[in-house]
Amino acid sequence: MSELHDALDTAHRLAVEWLDSLPERDVPPQASASEVMAALGELPDGPRPASEVVQLLGTAAGPGLTAIPGGRWYGMVMGGTVPAALAADWLVSAWDQNSALRAVTPATVALEDLADRWLLDLLGLPPQCGVGMPTGGTMANFTCLVTARDAVLRAAGWDVRERGLTDSPGVRVLVGAERHDSVDKVLRLMGLGAPEAVAADEQGRIRVDALADALAHGTGTPTVVVLQAGNVHSGCFDDFAAAIPVAHAAGAWVHIDGAFGLFAAASPRLRHLTAGYEAADSWATDAHKTLNVPYDCGIAIVRDVAALRGSMGMHGDYLIQDEAGEPFDRVPEMSRRARGTTVWAALASLGRSGVAELVERFCRHAGMFAGGLARIPGVEVLNDVVFTQVCASFGSDERTRQVVERMLADGTAWTTGSRWHDRAVLRVALCNWSTTDADVRATLEALQRAAA
Ligand SMILES: *Cc1c(COP(=O)(O)O)cnc(C)c1O
Repeated sequence: MSELHDALDTAHRLAVEWLDSLPERDVPPQASASEVMAALGELPDGPRPASEVVQLLGTAAGPGLTAIPGGRWYGMVMGGTVPAALAADWLVSAWDQNSALRAVTPATVALEDLADRWLLDLLGLPPQCGVGMPTGGTMANFTCLVTARDAVLRAAGWDVRERGLTDSPGVRVLVGAERHDSVDKVLRLMGLGAPEAVAADEQGRIRVDALADALAHGTGTPTVVVLQAGNVHSGCFDDFAAAIPVAHAAGAWVHIDGAFGLFAAASPRLRHLTAGYEAADSWATDAHKTLNVPYDCGIAIVRDVAALRGSMGMHGDYLIQDEAGEPFDRVPEMSRRARGTTVWAALASLGRSGVAELVERFCRHAGMFAGGLARIPGVEVLNDVVFTQVCASFGSDERTRQVVERMLADGTAWTTGSRWHDRAVLRVALCNWSTTDADVRATLEALQRAAA
């Protein structure tokens, strides 16, 4: 057999072994990064057969792997991988298409165009929106907020492309007090500094009266308002139907960070959480969270596709660019992985009802966690559990932290410790297609043991 076939066969065998081990193995890693480094060894003096290198990966890295694609991973907000998307991702690597220009890579551009169209349809957003697929939610926020910055300054007669930001009228960015930290990071990268935080209610929703107040005390500066679909602690959604008209009346661009929450709009039962959200100017979400495609894939959606291409596009005399727009016109990077292919595969395998059912199942499991946690003596569930997040206190901060540590040592599941409203909390995020009712029950039993 050729070296290539040997290497791919080894990778296939190791991948299947890994995936088959997920239901049984401990969720946290069993080796540290330095232990894995030691097992991998030093830079070899010369070439080695590819299959030997792949086998070394399996043997040395294996113990340091975390069961993120398994059903009992509830850490941060991380999705698993639906089978069709995983298999498509292997093809994406084998095809190795630099999916930037439609004349060069028509197949993967077609897949991305179709994925864009299907996403807008599922999310109930206008079909003429521009869609870009950067690496994740952070870069999707970046893509949208750069476009927003350029647009509000252009409306004020200032062309950022020509003149930069120095001496510009400036941009005011209003965010809810509980926005995701990636929004701050992105604004920093954009040279805008820290945003102005608007007060949030007890579940973390931006207070629309406070937003109206902040906008009324504006100085006429071009303004961007960042709203949120899915708070990482409470799972709650801002009141878009109330907030967006207030922001638009003040001439602001409205962006929604919906890294994991935007897909609520794909479910007839949960769509009410996003009511009114289609009036925004841009939306950011992740395919590697709720949609369960492999890392990494974000989704940036902008109503005004010309504005998106104006901010993200570039020109090179050697590039064959089409009037219809190119995938690389809508993202910060130039060379790029064919991310649309895995998104297409996930959507093609789940179908309309499968996407809805996926999000609804996450919510049902979050409800099971909320009910089960509330029955453990001394536990207080701190959020309203409207979506896929559950946040609980085990009494004192010390005890909550102890339970988080005991859960890690137990290995049954991964739950995350955090701080919310000045209290230590244990967070459970439902985001994995492979989580079963039995997984939830086993995790609740582990939580009971940890709290005993
Ligand atoms: C995860 C998350 C992000 C960042 O997305 P990445 O894909 O990790 O870059 C932004 N906002 C919210 C609300 C998130 O949950």
